[in-house]
Amino acid sequence: PEIPLERVDDNTLAIPETWNPEMKVPGIIYANREIEKSLVGDRSLDQVVNVAMLPGIVKASMGMPDIHWGYGFPIGGVAGFDLKEGIISPGGVGYDINCGVTLIGTDLNIEEIRPHIKELLERIFLKIPSGMSRKASFKINDHQMDEILSTGLQWAVSEGYATKDDILHTEDGGRMQKSDPVNVSPEARKRGLNQLGTLGSGNHFLEIQAVEQIMDMERGSSFNLHEGKATIMIHTGSRGLGHQVATDFVREIQTGGEGVVADVNDRQLSSVYFQSDMGQRYYEAMNAAANFAFVNRQIIVSEIRSVFGEVLHIDPQEMGMRIVYSLAHNMARVERHNVGKKSMDLVVHRKGATRAFPGSKMENGSIFRRYGHPVIIPGDMGTASYVLAGTQENLEKSFGSTCHGAGRLLSRKKSFESFSSSEVIEKMNRSGIFIKAASPGVVSEEAPGSYKNIDEVVATVAGSGLSIPVARLIPVGVVKG
Ligand code: 5GP
Ligand code: MN
Ligand code: MN
Repeated sequence: PEIPLERVDDNTLAIPETWNPEMKVPGIIYANREIEKSLVGDRSLDQVVNVAMLPGIVKASMGMPDIHWGYGFPIGGVAGFDLKEGIISPGGVGYDINCGVTLIGTDLNIEEIRPHIKELLERIFLKIPSGMSRKASFKINDHQMDEILSTGLQWAVSEGYATKDDILHTEDGGRMQKSDPVNVSPEARKRGLNQLGTLGSGNHFLEIQAVEQIMDMERGSSFNLHEGKATIMIHTGSRGLGHQVATDFVREIQTGGEGVVADVNDRQLSSVYFQSDMGQRYYEAMNAAANFAFVNRQIIVSEIRSVFGEVLHIDPQEMGMRIVYSLAHNMARVERHNVGKKSMDLVVHRKGATRAFPGSKMENGSIFRRYGHPVIIPGDMGTASYVLAGTQENLEKSFGSTCHGAGRLLSRKKSFESFSSSEVIEKMNRSGIFIKAASPGVVSEEAPGSYKNIDEVVATVAGSGLSIPVARLIPVGVVKG
């Protein structure tokens, strides 16, 4: 029988806890009526139900409007587990640990950039390796790897790749404290050695954009976003290193042992009690991989600064290039939240979901104490992306979380078969968007039609009070790995 989706309000659907006796909490999916159409019969709903059965889950198994099928847990999924009794799951974080987005703001008018767009894309493509196998231009040694895994952006500052200001504009200051390189396998380290500063392939991208519209003036200017200015968006994560960490722990958990949750409804849910030795080792390895990802994005930021300087012949200082925010959308974090009337320590899994904290939830001294931190939501390479801000209401509803993108509508394979790369490129060119891609295949797989409508996704998170739209960004030039 089909999983029941009950409409709670214009932007919320529920799967009642009574649907399956093993569910410990209900499923909640944020979707307006338009987004709901893409959900009917979707396998990600089974995954919402499966996650609702895991030990220690509280409140609800949640799906954001960009929800789609993923390994074990859905992508666009949020779940919080009791720190003492609950689990942690590599499938709940995702294979690309700390996959995330960095948005750079500039003082440059988009019209100053347009004449140079092709040259910029060519130079970026040359300097920032993308695609499956192109290697970084520099290699790090084992000692440097240890520093990166333990200290994240702290290392990048000491090596001149990051400024103190960059750190202030990065989630967790670009350093997950509870990280331990000892729990990162030699294979994982090896895969990371020549991948620092690389974009990767497929869904990962680097985009030059124009701020098309500011919907919230106060928040917009406090985030340093202004209509008509250029922004640069980077989407990548921990590359082969994070993927290997996930692979190693999924394998270890599936082999069994102390702390492993037996009898999960789907082998891919592979979960381990957070307080167990294996759980702690995964947590420390995940944080180490997250630190690697923060550094990976930061090195790309530093390359972007120099490429823009070279091509536009402007001192990077004078371009006003500053990070708006750099964030993770595949992570598990220990956070304190209200659950009913109780305040609880939770392990909040956001897989293809973005943290969206209001100012009140930011640490003392944070520059985002007033409006909360910027929330960056990429859409697709032909339409738009958004910047939003968190709300107080969100803390109560979804642990301060929102969507991470438009979300796939078609599988890679389906897209590849459905869209011709030359037609996609022509259509983009006609709208004034240039693209430099590693292969024609990736253009088809990533065609704008492969994704849900970003405007509907954002309308849902705005309508449900999860986030406040601040800016709409449109693509001008795209590099696809
Ligand atoms: P994911 O992390 O799940 O791979 O991707 C996050 C989101 O990025 C996708 O759901 C999609 O909405 C968005 N996205 C993928 N490719 C592009 C692109 O080339 N440009 C922009 N702006 N967004 C993209
Ligand atoms: Mn990724
Ligand atoms: Mn991602």
